[in-house]
Amino acid sequence: MPSTKSSTKTASTSKASSAKTTRSSNGTSSKANSNSQLEKFFEDSLKDIYWAEKHLTKALPKMQKAATSEELQQAIANHLEQTKEHVNRLEQVFEQLNKKAQAKKCEAMEGLTKEADSVMEETEEGTATRDVGIIAASQKVEHYEIATYGTLVQLAKTMGEDEIAEILAQTLEEEKETDEMLTEIAENNINWEAQEEGEEGSEEEEEEK
Ligand code: FE
Ligand code: FE
Repeated sequence: MPSTKSSTKTASTSKASSAKTTRSSNGTSSKANSNSQLEKFFEDSLKDIYWAEKHLTKALPKMQKAATSEELQQAIANHLEQTKEHVNRLEQVFEQLNKKAQAKKCEAMEGLTKEADSVMEETEEGTATRDVGIIAASQKVEHYEIATYGTLVQLAKTMGEDEIAEILAQTLEEEKETDEMLTEIAENNINWEAQEEGEEGSEEEEEEK
């Protein structure tokens, strides 16, 4: 127990509130807390999402290629560029923390992209139904990211890391925008087109059962 530094290392609740009041005038106090369990958790979460974002930069091109509509292809292409920027931002965050940018395998993101893979395998090429599946899989990814960045932004604020909170909040906003844009694409066109396909293909479905 680092009891000698008790002025900055008291119970976590009082630490958090004192951080709020002293942080702006004393930027070094964050370093004093760098061994706290919360900071360790924060760092682990960063490593996790860093892996996830990097993994997405490999998964998205496959999804882009598999998508049927140009609109969705373009949306995924934009999302890929954004994702690369998210990787850069996380590297900035590691730098701010004076830590080496390190990725730790994110089982959740691996699972979500595997699900996207099977959607692409199980739907027919060139159909709107495939696009529906790709959008559904993408939105699961976005929601995972939104949950993760939402937590990270709040934790950064709690720890008095306001600059880091701002960087992460930027990404959080973009994840939300992507999610909304995917909903729009689905609702304006693709879902309806897919519904028509469903009617045409219903005979085949019957045979399968
Ligand atoms: Fe992202
Ligand atoms: Fe995203």
